[in-house]
Amino acid sequence: MIGVLEKDKTILFRHAFLILLTASQLMGCAVLSTNTECGTEDSREYTMKNKELQLKDNSTKYRMPVVFHVLYNTEAENISKQEIENMLATLSHDFTAKNIDLAEVPTEFKAFVGNPDITFYLANKLPNGEDTDGIIRKKTTNKSFKVRERKAFFQSKIISPKSYLNVYICDIKNSNAYTPTESNLAHDGIVIDYKRVFGGSRTLTHEVGHWLDLRHIF
Ligand SMILES: [Zn+2]
Repeated sequence: MIGVLEKDKTILFRHAFLILLTASQLMGCAVLSTNTECGTEDSREYTMKNKELQLKDNSTKYRMPVVFHVLYNTEAENISKQEIENMLATLSHDFTAKNIDLAEVPTEFKAFVGNPDITFYLANKLPNGEDTDGIIRKKTTNKSFKVRERKAFFQSKIISPKSYLNVYICDIKNSNAYTPTESNLAHDGIVIDYKRVFGGSRTLTHEVGHWLDLRHIF
């Protein structure tokens, strides 16, 4: 069975926490050490309050369209489509249990390895039926964005957050990535620092884990 992953994201990936764990290990918890909003109890309260949780049917495959908003002040921040596609491929590998480091999961956790079976892809249609390549580029006068400011979310119009994952790529001051904490659909999505998207980065994997209600367990 193939289903579109509907947002409200009414899914609890009880077994998928290893994805988050693995991604954190690989990043040396760089996201965690500098980011006060990445997977905090505040964000947990938000997700628990605003999402109806239910266990996933193991036979269901999900396909999630993603829209990237590239907010750039300098050309270096205007990330190429190839880099975005590489990061998206990593994300899909991680959420379909095709990541090559799955074999390195410590023995005591192996029994809990799950496969959420979610494939993420660049959106090819906008809600109004227009074609898109899934990347919205916008030059900004902001040299950087602070974590707790919501400016990044207002620099580019969010695309139907009930049907798309919106990812904002920009220069985030003193942080690498975060998910929002308020119960506000206008802020639904993920903001990631442009320096964290290169080479098939797994920073997005980590943040999508939070976006799907996973929390830090360590
Ligand atoms: Zn985190």
